[in-house]
Amino acid sequence: MEIPESSNFIQDIIVNDLKTGKRTKVHTRFPPEPNGYLHIGHAKSICLNFGTANKFADFGGITNLRFDDTNPTKEDVEYVDSIREDVQWLGFEWKGGEYFASDYYDQIYAFAEKMIEMGKAYVEDLNREEMQEYRGNDAGKPSKPSPYRDRSVEENMKLFREMRDGKYADGEKCLRAKVDLASPNMNMRDPTIYRIKHCTHHRTGDKWCVYPMYDFAHPISDWIEGITHSICTLEFEAHRPLYDWFLIELGLENRPQQIEFARLNLTYTMMSKRKLLELVQTKAVMGWDDPRMPTVCGLRRRGYTPSSIREFCDRIGISKADSMVDSNLLYFCIREELNRTAQRAMAVLDPIKLVIDNWEDGKIDEIEVENNPEDPSMGTRKIPFGKELFIERDDFMEEPPKKYFRLKPDGEVRLKSAYFVKCVGFEKDADGNVTVVHCTYDPESRGGESPDGRKVKGTIQWVSATHAVDAEVRLFDNLFTLENPSATPEGHDWHEYLNPNSLEVKMAKVEPALANATMADRYQFMRLGYFCLDKDSTAEKLVFNRTVGLKDSYNK
Ligand code: ATP
Ligand code: MG
Repeated sequence: MEIPESSNFIQDIIVNDLKTGKRTKVHTRFPPEPNGYLHIGHAKSICLNFGTANKFADFGGITNLRFDDTNPTKEDVEYVDSIREDVQWLGFEWKGGEYFASDYYDQIYAFAEKMIEMGKAYVEDLNREEMQEYRGNDAGKPSKPSPYRDRSVEENMKLFREMRDGKYADGEKCLRAKVDLASPNMNMRDPTIYRIKHCTHHRTGDKWCVYPMYDFAHPISDWIEGITHSICTLEFEAHRPLYDWFLIELGLENRPQQIEFARLNLTYTMMSKRKLLELVQTKAVMGWDDPRMPTVCGLRRRGYTPSSIREFCDRIGISKADSMVDSNLLYFCIREELNRTAQRAMAVLDPIKLVIDNWEDGKIDEIEVENNPEDPSMGTRKIPFGKELFIERDDFMEEPPKKYFRLKPDGEVRLKSAYFVKCVGFEKDADGNVTVVHCTYDPESRGGESPDGRKVKGTIQWVSATHAVDAEVRLFDNLFTLENPSATPEGHDWHEYLNPNSLEVKMAKVEPALANATMADRYQFMRLGYFCLDKDSTAEKLVFNRTVGLKDSYNK
């Protein structure tokens, strides 16, 4: 079998492992903690883990979905379900199977006892603060051994079993690995591997009151599943020596190789599940799937497609250096795709009436337009045109600036695909606001074609007032006003940078065909951007989300 050509540093390692015979297969895993919904950062990790396995499919390339559920108080089945849904939606299959770290509690517990037997773990009585004090720090403060470090194997075993049997309260004792108190790597200074937590786990119920720490459970879970390449984010680089130490001490062969990559950071948003949860709980957003959220379900609700997110993950690539990716790249990826695939539609977000004085009362013209000029195979449709229309309020100006090419007194514009109209007057209300614009049309300009070579510079969209359908349209801006809300200036807090104007709601008029829109449909509203139906939509009330604007000037 031919080994595929590598296209990044992780694949370099895999290719080399296959060439040297160090590995004969490729088995990756995606290990989310079910304590929140997946975000676009997880999508990067998903594309990487599943994508890498897919690339080496000829070498048995498969991926496990493993729920890292070692922190029982924060986890929930709601999250488990959403994670499955999101991974699937992104287009990936966990061909290696679905697992839970909690499935391994018996085995992990047995490994902990084995560590005690080997004199490599001890029961600690110091509390958190004291332990911290004894451990020293990596700024040069040396550690000193805990007075409990040299307990006998028998005593350690007895105490650990008592911990397991519920004899002690949370935090009263813990089990620590006996690694290296002099190590400059703090992770090696006798880390805690088991703690007491009297609580109900979402899968194991009340069976356990001791739970393994992530750093102990993770390498063992990887090993149990036969993971060959354990891909994770950079913050785990300093944990790698500890993971290797556990497996070596326990005599477990075929150690998974951990490879670290830089996590995704995106401008004007944040990826911390803890903070995203807070936004949900405080109702700063509509929920985990609020279209402003960087979550996979938020992006889905906003109108992103799986392929656009995969394309984004492809374009950002992977590296070993932390960096900030411009959100505009994400917007670019969905815009490019929707330009090819979205059906065009007429919508007016801020309607003002336009009356064609010389149009026969009651006459309706059916204007035929292409559904997508980029793709003639998408066919055409007819839009009704009549005497009374709606246009955008800001497409008319009574006193326009110099280069204003839309409607103005005595000015002529093209109503997209329909007719040339010329402004002959307007009406105002008591407050001086224009309420109706009066025009005459040129019957010779049907289809929006100039009859005599005369040019009009402006083309505006319209809907027939008698046929248009009401729709709520939601426009979104960044959730945060600070480029990196995870790094706030000294003395400031991320809450201060929530954008109060991140959601703008418009009561729009849209072309009648949109009454039949489904959640799967994607539209380009002429001149306004790309839109999709929101789940809040009902038969009585249409609701559309703007996925992204038309131009790169989205961020102003
Ligand atoms: P958070 O910090 O948002 O709570 P986490 O790392 O604790 O995230 P996990 O559920 O443990 O969340 O993550 C599952 C996998 O996704 C891990 O392998 C992790 O490395 C990866 N991951 C999480 N956030 C990012 C990110 N921003 N970019 C790339 N990968 C990520
Ligand atoms: Mg984590």
